Amino acid sequence: MTKVIFPGSFDPIHFGHIDIAQRASRLFSEVVVAVYDKPIKTLLFLPEERIALVKEAMNGLPNVSVMGYRELTVSFARKVGAQAIVRGLRVFSDFEYEFRMALANKRLEPDIDVIALITDEQHTFLSSSTVKEIAALDGDVSSMVPDFVQRALQAKFKDLGDNQTVVPTSSLKD
Ligand code: ADP
Repeated sequence: MTKVIFPGSFDPIHFGHIDIAQRASRLFSEVVVAVYDKPIKTLLFLPEERIALVKEAMNGLPNVSVMGYRELTVSFARKVGAQAIVRGLRVFSDFEYEFRMALANKRLEPDIDVIALITDEQHTFLSSSTVKEIAALDGDVSSMVPDFVQRALQAKFKDLGDNQTVVPTSSLKD
């Protein structure tokens, strides 16, 4: 009986995250999707909004629950009795970051392991930032997020109006 957490900002949740959560739910007896309250990065959605979208996305997975947290990830894992932390790995550039985080977490809590699941090929490029940037420019994100997330993005950008500095632009505009 292995209980794991799948932590992240989920700003917002997309099909890459959902794929990792679904696969974790098949591998482990219990999965807690842990939505980090206040990461260092600037976020678009409030913690309660992100949690609500993740809950909707996890609907129908009986062994998956969703919780917000604000402490260290390893402390949260310990608090809920999880033996491991699941992370998703996309392109090679994720590896260095995840490798450093995994070693730091291991130093803090040697009993809690980090398990990385390789992304599905079709989600390799997918990130919340890309989704936000496309949605901010009124692009079609229907192949990247569930329809309720797409609606939440549209409503959020409508509310923000011209105040969209919260979404860092990279190159999709050029
Ligand atoms: P964080 O701020 O912790 O990186 P994210 O919400 O960006 O939070 O990501 C949460 C987890 O989901 C991370 O392990 C990340 O690598 C993974 N992830 C993000 N995008 C994808 C994707 N397209 N495919 C698989 N895993 C992904």
